[in-house]
Amino acid sequence: MNTYVYDFAEGSRGMDDLLGNKGANLAEMVRMGLPVPPGFTITTEACRTFLTTGAPPVELRPQIRDHLAVIEGAAGKRLGQADDPLLVSVRSGARVSMPGMMETVLDVGLNDYSVLGLGKTPDRERFAWDSYRRLVQMYGSTVMGVEGSLFAEVLTRVERQHHTPDDSRLDVCDLIRITEAFKDLVRERAGREFPQDPADQLWEAVLAVFASWNGDRARLYRRRERIPDDLGTAVTVQTMVFGNFGPDSGSGVAFTRDPATGRPGVYGDYLPSAQGEDVVSGVRNTVPLQELATLDPASFAQLREHMASLEAHYRDLCDIEFTIERGRLWMLQTRVGKRTAQAAFSIASQLADEGVITPRQALGRVDGAGLAQLMFPRFDTTAAGSAVARGIPASPGAAVGAVVFDSAEAVRRAVAGEKVVLVRSETTADDLPGMVAAQAVLTSHGGKTSHAAVVARGMGKVCVCGAEGVVVDVRSRCFTAGDLTVSEGTVISVDGSRGLVHMGAVPMVESDVMRYFEGGGQPPDGAAQECVRPVHRILQQADAARRLEVRANADTPHDAARARRFGAQGIGLCRTEHMFLGDRRPLVEAMILAESAADRDAALDALLPRQRSDFIGILEEMDGLPVTIRLLDPPLHEFLPDRTELAVRMARDEALGTSPDPRDTSLLAAVTRMHEENPMLGLRGVRLGLVVPGLVAMQVRAIAEAVVARRRAGGAPRAEIMVPLVDAVEELRLVKDEVDRVLAAVSTETGVAVECPVGTMIELPRAALTAGRIAGDARFFSFGTNDLTQTTWGFSRDDVESAFFSAYLDKGVFAVSPFETIDREGVGRLVRIAVAEGRATRPDLEIGVCGEHGGDPSSVHFFHEVGLDYVSCSPFRVPVARLEAGRAALSAADDESFGDFGDRMHASTRTRLSPAIPGRGGADDHRRPRPDAFG
Ligand code: PEP
Ligand code: MG
Repeated sequence: MNTYVYDFAEGSRGMDDLLGNKGANLAEMVRMGLPVPPGFTITTEACRTFLTTGAPPVELRPQIRDHLAVIEGAAGKRLGQADDPLLVSVRSGARVSMPGMMETVLDVGLNDYSVLGLGKTPDRERFAWDSYRRLVQMYGSTVMGVEGSLFAEVLTRVERQHHTPDDSRLDVCDLIRITEAFKDLVRERAGREFPQDPADQLWEAVLAVFASWNGDRARLYRRRERIPDDLGTAVTVQTMVFGNFGPDSGSGVAFTRDPATGRPGVYGDYLPSAQGEDVVSGVRNTVPLQELATLDPASFAQLREHMASLEAHYRDLCDIEFTIERGRLWMLQTRVGKRTAQAAFSIASQLADEGVITPRQALGRVDGAGLAQLMFPRFDTTAAGSAVARGIPASPGAAVGAVVFDSAEAVRRAVAGEKVVLVRSETTADDLPGMVAAQAVLTSHGGKTSHAAVVARGMGKVCVCGAEGVVVDVRSRCFTAGDLTVSEGTVISVDGSRGLVHMGAVPMVESDVMRYFEGGGQPPDGAAQECVRPVHRILQQADAARRLEVRANADTPHDAARARRFGAQGIGLCRTEHMFLGDRRPLVEAMILAESAADRDAALDALLPRQRSDFIGILEEMDGLPVTIRLLDPPLHEFLPDRTELAVRMARDEALGTSPDPRDTSLLAAVTRMHEENPMLGLRGVRLGLVVPGLVAMQVRAIAEAVVARRRAGGAPRAEIMVPLVDAVEELRLVKDEVDRVLAAVSTETGVAVECPVGTMIELPRAALTAGRIAGDARFFSFGTNDLTQTTWGFSRDDVESAFFSAYLDKGVFAVSPFETIDREGVGRLVRIAVAEGRATRPDLEIGVCGEHGGDPSSVHFFHEVGLDYVSCSPFRVPVARLEAGRAALSAADDESFGDFGDRMHASTRTRLSPAIPGRGGADDHRRPRPDAFG
């Protein structure tokens, strides 16, 4: 018989696949001897059966009954018994934490009789009815499908009658009235009574939690965080303990270090006389956890002790939920806590300093997406002026956007391209789409552990919460802050690092981490140290661990210099197309339009010195390091004016009676002659070099002469020549012959022997499939995974993303754009074949990748796995690639840091969306630069 239910005492933290994160960690706390209310966990496997077959396994209900009996035996009371009943909570808990995205039902077991038993003494009467009304509300909405806002409306109505801002001052009579009103609402809306049988309540609550795995917000969250849809959730059933018993009770959330900055200390929120969900929802403002030291010194001391043992045990920042019931501390949950990028780096580095983890393990605790975040600009504090509101700095960073007051508006404006800031009193899970769409979230209620703060941190969004001076009026679409009224659409700046809100768009300045890279990666000092030192330390570790080299895609001396400062070990792709633009465009036009060989040669001769000086500049910046220069790739007509524009201009001239400019006439003829329906599949790449006489020779001569010039200047130039878009080895051979001829000529003319390795891009499926033959004539391969993705999928890379990729993502055709993260199954298979067959022909074949995937964290791991020598990416992504290459080396070696609990808990961050590049669109860069892009 399959086991679908485990008592807490039967599990451990390694069983999170089966017991979910929450269940596994509760079990671990029990093993550690911490005070955990008894309970059991229903496995993810049971949930998966429910989700795939529509029904739970038949063994499940009897197994739940048996485990419940064990808890009842230990407690000496039964679920929902009329006199002093046992009550349980029913909570979701997937392997990867999905805060607030699924359902929870508390106080299961209360009914019209047991509520009287629970409240049998006068001091417990209010508490009992408060618990019952909470159950009817939660159960009614979660299990019976009644709109949640209807319950809230009833509650608000009664609160208004009593002129109280929240429910804490309602008396027993009010609560009885509210409970009855809730039950009426349930009967009316769900068409049946609120169930009185505690066993039915428990069973239906479990099924509702299973079903919430496929709720809208859970699905949206999984898509964003790239959590597989088929994991399913476990369900923990746990004896209820009560923080709402009165002033000697309460609930709180604690972190063993600050999840925003990583600083050690006591962090968290506490809410006296409240249940856990009141803390997280942000409905009532919490007090800082330190205040518990005064409110209940004994519990505080115990909590600190447990926090220390948990951190030592998990060797990481732990996030803890606890409840104090009449002065007795209970641990309700722990997990390795989510943290900001800055905190991730500083905690990993601190723990390594403290000897808790090894430096290699520290590398497993951070990721490239986090590093990219730290490279984004921050506000210029000198230009910010005074803040209009101040709150808790819950998730750092700087964001500017127009104020919006609900999720739908945030999404609507964001889709239209506007940057927005979502302003709410507090957020709930229903606000998730708006939070995803917004640049920042600002709330007037809630602490560092409120829903807004936790979710924003998880997503790397800027968040200021608990800004009490901000009064949100959703109906009038405005908020007030002191005397100021800010209406929807007004631009504000949110400083999540300092908890401040400013009017207008505050100017940005470079982040400390970016300044560190721009300074060449020198160890930091001064104020920047706290943020930068951990990055420096961990990157050094990554550099020591990695096997993959990291080069940059750069085609100007300026970019080459930056790439080198950022740690690039050469240039993996120097695109030469921009060198045909700007003031050179007339020369290129002359080359294209030349009617005789002499005219063409003249144009090429004029281009030559300019190209040479480009290469000299780049080789100088990259002195001593390899520079892979790619021969011209785009179709020539891209260098000519637009056909329609020309035609319109000429038609206008004609209409005005002026004769068209003869140059326009010949340009239009050339553009028309060269027009292609599918230019990406047309006359470009090596094909161009083979049909335009003199083009390859001019480029190769420029390279060779630049090498000579650099050698004469005492440099150590290492130019390599790369041929684009090769399909067949014959194409490469023809170009190579030409290259050899020109190199020999320049060597003879100058007396300096010029040797440049010639290699090819592998960016067409045919090239990948015939790589064994191609390697016979190529010294190196560089995978052009932008084109390889385009041609393998048959996706036009310039068009498909805006056309239908969002539909494909929604429908689950793929979880991430294949232009962003390498498609291992298809494109990746071609890469594997080409690597194996290329190396079989030429064992010392050097192989790299220069498509945009070279800077994408997940793809870097793949390139490490398949044995590439280097990845090449835009200069801004070089640090991310260095970090991920180091992490890839460790995870491939199955180092302890990647097998252990810590890293496992970081799995969700590890697979997060490919980081955008500060100042540039990350995933857009696979689009081949068009001439006008250089404008
Ligand atoms: C590629 O195709 O991956 C590549 C690097 O070349 P480009 O983007 O310039 O076509
Ligand atoms: Mg290409």
